[in-house]
Amino acid sequence: MKKGRVFSGARPTGRQHLGNYLGAIKNYVALQDDYDCVYCVVDLHALTTLRGTEHLKEWTYEMVLDWLAAGMDPELGTIIFVQSNVPQVTELHMILSMVTPLGKLTRLPTFKEKVQQQPDNVNYGLVGYPVLMASDITIYKASVVPVGVDQASHLELTREIVRTFNFHFGPVLIEPQAKYTEIPKVLGIDGVNKMSKSLDNHIELASEPDELYARVRMMVTDPQRQRRTDPGRPEVCNVYSLHNIFTPPETVQQIDADCRAAAIGCVDCKKVLAENLAGHLAPFRDRRAQLAGDPDHVWNVLNDGAQRANAIASQVIAEVKTAVGLP
Ligand code: SF4
Repeated sequence: MKKGRVFSGARPTGRQHLGNYLGAIKNYVALQDDYDCVYCVVDLHALTTLRGTEHLKEWTYEMVLDWLAAGMDPELGTIIFVQSNVPQVTELHMILSMVTPLGKLTRLPTFKEKVQQQPDNVNYGLVGYPVLMASDITIYKASVVPVGVDQASHLELTREIVRTFNFHFGPVLIEPQAKYTEIPKVLGIDGVNKMSKSLDNHIELASEPDELYARVRMMVTDPQRQRRTDPGRPEVCNVYSLHNIFTPPETVQQIDADCRAAAIGCVDCKKVLAENLAGHLAPFRDRRAQLAGDPDHVWNVLNDGAQRANAIASQVIAEVKTAVGLP
């Protein structure tokens, strides 16, 4: 017996990197044991920037291929689909926008951030983004949404929108609960910024071992360790942070001691990390190659997911329209 239905969405960003895996995908896979999971490629949300829209199809394919290779699995009942393939969500977006005060949307810190990021394109979609998110969640009657602390305000707004809607029109929509997830901040190879494709500081999950090593070799380490003979500080080194995740604990302990005593050089230390990373990701790479052997597989999964999502959404939008009184 599952504990409820989880919804989560991610923008199509193509091949996934270690930050995506540790920050989201790993959790998506784990949630499948306890919840009915609905995972969505939110391509409409991606339109708010109007950048790279010609790549949306390719990025969707590559991202979902990585999701499947990592263990997100329709055979377990998980619904994986593309947001725009279930257009009822845009109908619900329109209806929910009527019960959402504009001031709440423009006061959200995330909206203010977006305005700073793209001052020349402050479009209506940016303002309505959290309302579309509320529609994404409620149209699939999700009871649980995994969120990091930074997204908490959006989910709180969803809950407020649901309460307002239900107050006016009756108890139709489910108020989702937050499932707070500890999302580790995975730094990029620059050792400063969060791992991100746009900053080109990422390590792709699908990298071949030599590509992995090339990226790991570029990683910034303890800046005070200028020479091989300088003792290092593992606690400020991003290579060491990744060792903590991908290297066996006894080796990590040894690296800690050797780094502090300057008994290991950064080049060798990185070699160990690259080998462990490659070993850890080997089953993922094999599975990805196997799935990619059938170019239709990803699209079949997404078509099937859209049909299943559609069945839920059709029912909910019909209930909503009846409750509102639309003829
Ligand atoms: S030896 Fe390893 S842990 Fe120490 S600074 Fe170099 S890369 Fe970082």
